[in-house]
Amino acid sequence: CGITGCISNADITSTLMNSLSKLEYRGYDSAGIAVATGNGLTVAKQAGETDGLRQSITANEPVGMLGIGHTRWSTHGAPTDENAHPHTDCTGTVAVVHNGIIENYDGIKSELQNNGHEFTSETDTEVVPHLVEQHLKDGVDPLTALQKVTERIDGKYALAMVTTHRDAIYVARNGSPLVIGVDDSARYVASDVPAFLEHTKEVIHLEDGDVAVLEPETHTVFRDGKSVSLEPTTITWSTE
Ligand code: GLU
Repeated sequence: CGITGCISNADITSTLMNSLSKLEYRGYDSAGIAVATGNGLTVAKQAGETDGLRQSITANEPVGMLGIGHTRWSTHGAPTDENAHPHTDCTGTVAVVHNGIIENYDGIKSELQNNGHEFTSETDTEVVPHLVEQHLKDGVDPLTALQKVTERIDGKYALAMVTTHRDAIYVARNGSPLVIGVDDSARYVASDVPAFLEHTKEVIHLEDGDVAVLEPETHTVFRDGKSVSLEPTTITWSTE
């Protein structure tokens, strides 16, 4: 599948939708976006191709300066509207997109359900927003919450997350591709460079184990728990 995200000083919904179209070659049984509108998170998602989602939201496009998107190639749960990403926690304050498979989701899901979490999908992915929600409730900040979740989950993932707690996109990579795009006043993240190549050719390739925080004018990558300063490299090919 393909994941994408964008944080900027301007409205990003059409940018997200265009990125999704460029990632459709990676899987396309469902599509979805979550946009932080300043009034909470707006999630739009459905089974089918990105064009269907585009048509569904045209009359009422969410307006916001940060968001994440997903084109799904299902591994756990049928290609339905409910199983489409992004997935959220019980309170709707955390939204997550995921490429890959969380091998140990079953045990985590039962534990969360015993603690009162209600699940709305059959995906392995949905444990992530619920685990983050639990940490946020304990007073942990979103970055630490995501780091703690990556210590808990096994398997392959590229994850991107938005929350209502702070205007930032949080990402993590282990075994699935993830690249950051750096522009003057915007940061992009995607499974593959073509998703944002029309905006910037400056990219940072994340490595397995990396967690990063993106804001419009800054990006911080944490490797082995320490923040590392990584210079972007310039892509020399084009999609024309
Ligand atoms: N395992 C997740 C799911 O089935 C993500 C699949 C993907 O990479 O698209 O929803």
